[in-house]
Amino acid sequence: MRNLDPEAKARLRRRSRLVHLGRDGEASQGFVNVPPYRGSTVVYPDVATLKSRGQRYTYGTHGTPTTDALCEAWSDLSGAAGTVLVPSGLAAIVVALMAAVEAGGHLLVTDSVYQPTRIFCDDALKRMGVETTYYDPRLGKEIAALMRPNTKAVFVESPGSQSLEVQDIPAIAEVAHAGGACVIADNTWATPLFFSPHAHGVDIAIEAGTKYLSGHSDLLLGLVTAAPDWFKRLHRAVDSMGIPPGPEDVFLALRGLRTLELRLREAERQGLALAQWLEARPEVQRVFHPALPSHPNHALWRRDFSGSSGLFSLILRPVSERAVAALLDGLELFGLGYSWGGYESLVIPFDCSAYRTATRWAPVGPALRFSVGLEDIDDLKDDLERGFERLRAAS
Ligand SMILES: *Cc1c(COP(=O)(O)O)cnc(C)c1O
Repeated sequence: MRNLDPEAKARLRRRSRLVHLGRDGEASQGFVNVPPYRGSTVVYPDVATLKSRGQRYTYGTHGTPTTDALCEAWSDLSGAAGTVLVPSGLAAIVVALMAAVEAGGHLLVTDSVYQPTRIFCDDALKRMGVETTYYDPRLGKEIAALMRPNTKAVFVESPGSQSLEVQDIPAIAEVAHAGGACVIADNTWATPLFFSPHAHGVDIAIEAGTKYLSGHSDLLLGLVTAAPDWFKRLHRAVDSMGIPPGPEDVFLALRGLRTLELRLREAERQGLALAQWLEARPEVQRVFHPALPSHPNHALWRRDFSGSSGLFSLILRPVSERAVAALLDGLELFGLGYSWGGYESLVIPFDCSAYRTATRWAPVGPALRFSVGLEDIDDLKDDLERGFERLRAAS
């Protein structure tokens, strides 16, 4: 393998770029992977270099060859001007918001947002003098009615957490930009491989690398990308906070990157197969999976996305809590746990009714969210089949 110049890299198709981006055979002494650089201090050759800050690496909080490798690759895949790394997906959201809002400003956030984002807005941002209004994720250009002269940012998350509403991001971005507001997107579900945020009007996009980029439930990482107009501000905001990610986590994320497309394609295949099977079950009232024609925003998903990941949710027909517990507690393959995007299947019950404020969440029955892993799909169905038997027996 030769070190590729930028032109040669740009010529490569995406699958090849996923393999080659961020690698530097010379710097790695011929080893295939960039190692996890650990370090605080970087020494300078002389006073002149120290005073002119004339070398790429200056101190551990400002980047290492390992973080540069991941940032180079992620910026390329995202079509972004640049990427910054932070220790978790939630930290990525916080950093994006801190780069865009200011005291006395107003913020629009989708009602379907990841709940910890909501807690940050309602608590920390409120104390800093930023007012948040939650909006119905089904709004497109109608969001204009909620814009104020001091609206600094519009936060989208598509599909939404738990309930998977797909948003009309280009329409929202047009309105936001007309009002001088920054568009921030939580793009964790799709990753840049299935939704290209900056090509759809997003200024700052975040990804919880904890999910599919890791793919193995063994790290926490956040990635934030920005369009050219926003990268300087984003970089300045992050650099002043002193929150670099751990070197081992960045190294593992780079390793995950090499197989990200393969794993996502498989998650898509498995997720759709299981969602279709569940949709036909008599115990299931409805399934929320954007790639199913029954999804209310399926047309938007088809227009803007190039794939679907393995995370979806469903509503059961009315049953007791005891019956749902009987289903879940006896599962052998599906783990009961938060997070998602790993190689192992997960399921979690959820209820957004307590915290949604712009929309009403009142399903006919209990709700479950699935993250489909890489197990044999027939084993997953068998596990759930036995679960539904327990549910019926406990009803
Ligand atoms: C998990 C998740 C996050 C947060 O990622 P962490 O690394 O767990 O902090 C943010 N947004 C979405 C949509 C998520 O699912």
